Amino acid sequence: MNPAMNASAERSLWAATADPAPVLPALARDIQADVAIVGGGYTGLSTAYHLALGGVSSVVIEGQSIGWGASGRNGGFVSTRFRASLPAILVRHGRDVARRMHALGQEAVDCVEEMAADLDLGSAAFGRYGNLTAAYDARGLARLHGNAAWLRKEMGETTMRPLSREEITAAVGSQAFVGGTLNEAGAAVHPLNFVRGLARGAAARGVEIYERTRATAIREVAGGVVVETTGGTVRAGRVVIATNAYTDAAARGLRSRVIPFPSAVIATARLPPGLLRTILPGGRLCSDSKRVLRWFRIMDDRLVFGGRGAFGQGASQAAYRRLAREMTAIFPAVAGHAVEFRWSGLVAMTLDALPHIGREGERTFYAMGYNGTGVAMSNLLGRYLAKMIREEPVDMALLAGEHFRAVPMPMLRRPAIKVAAAWQQFLDGIGR
Ligand SMILES: Cc1cc2nc3c(=O)[nH]c(=O)nc-3n(C[C@H](O)[C@H](O)[C@H](O)COP(=O)(O)OP(=O)(O)OC[C@H]3O[C@@H](n4cnc5c(N)ncnc54)[C@H](O)[C@@H]3O)c2cc1C
Repeated sequence: MNPAMNASAERSLWAATADPAPVLPALARDIQADVAIVGGGYTGLSTAYHLALGGVSSVVIEGQSIGWGASGRNGGFVSTRFRASLPAILVRHGRDVARRMHALGQEAVDCVEEMAADLDLGSAAFGRYGNLTAAYDARGLARLHGNAAWLRKEMGETTMRPLSREEITAAVGSQAFVGGTLNEAGAAVHPLNFVRGLARGAAARGVEIYERTRATAIREVAGGVVVETTGGTVRAGRVVIATNAYTDAAARGLRSRVIPFPSAVIATARLPPGLLRTILPGGRLCSDSKRVLRWFRIMDDRLVFGGRGAFGQGASQAAYRRLAREMTAIFPAVAGHAVEFRWSGLVAMTLDALPHIGREGERTFYAMGYNGTGVAMSNLLGRYLAKMIREEPVDMALLAGEHFRAVPMPMLRRPAIKVAAAWQQFLDGIGR
């Protein structure tokens, strides 16, 4: 099965256009390392890479293949934003905390830019293309413009500016929106090429990476940790759990703190040049102002369009059809052009809508819970995990592990998520 697919009927544009996957072994013996890292996505590999830069050896074990999780399936938006609201954070936690959170968001995009340059990840196509956010109605627009004004006044952010109806219509190439904002600092990547390039770069710096090797039990023992896997035992001084929405029973204590939520993507057939020129003509990326947001970008001469997925294999076809309807509502001229790629994955929601990084017990570290905006932040938190393991001081503000709360009554997680998602979509539908 293609690594970036969830089911045989699904096919990812990223997998179809990516560099060849690195050839990596499965673990088949017992090994030792300074640090064992569970999860071969951005979080785990960035941790390994940054540890290697500091001279600390590590082993990455990935249950499937590199980038199989969200890191190889996402939209590739490299964003400075958290899902949680910074104005609300300022009210509740004060200006210093809000400023630190804002700075972490900016630093995350800078981190991806630096890694792309340092690792020479040309095919990851990192660029500060600029991210648009588009509103469907006056209420949504007031929220976006209010936020842009707040960021400028309170955080000194100069890269975000409000756009009028005429400006957003021209920038998107659609009459669907009444206005929006442009964040010039917003960037994008080819997500699968980024994670594969990162794996290659880490391996070149001495990181051992094993695919098709699932951790089945993780425990601290006197003087170290033991990670039992499907292919052998890893003994290490420290362990990092970097499994995000795919966290399983091997990290039970962390699994109860993230809520896996499905997210889906479609991509059209290559569009004719005349039509292509009219969609996002300035080369920007766009998402909308809804709670359950939709996003779109052009890649490989195709319109790539993402949004909410659905629970269960059967339901995912309905999610793809809904995305196609939403896409043609925004771009009527795309109707009649086939959808050639459909794929989905899981994002990890948290109770406070923030990712968290921390330490459990003596020797167990983790970062997860990116709430669907983790391309930039997971790479940055990998860098911070490496610092924490080297016992360097870090200021993670509200991302610190002490704020990472378990979801009450985990048995009720799935029904509760469905109700919450339906409610959010209802509010979106009536423009609240
Ligand atoms: C469809 C979709 C679109 C998205 N779009 C965007 C976007 O445009 N911008 C943005 O910022 N964010 C986006 N995201 C979120 C972003 O992709 C994630 O936040 C980020 O990739 C998380 O990286 P990670 O390394 O923490 O986790 P992942 O990439 O999910 O990696 C976790 C890995 O752990 C492995 N694993 C799990 N359990 C075990 C075990 N027991 N043993 C061994 N391995 C194990 C899994 O196989 C998996 O490969 C999107 C996500 C999805 C699903």
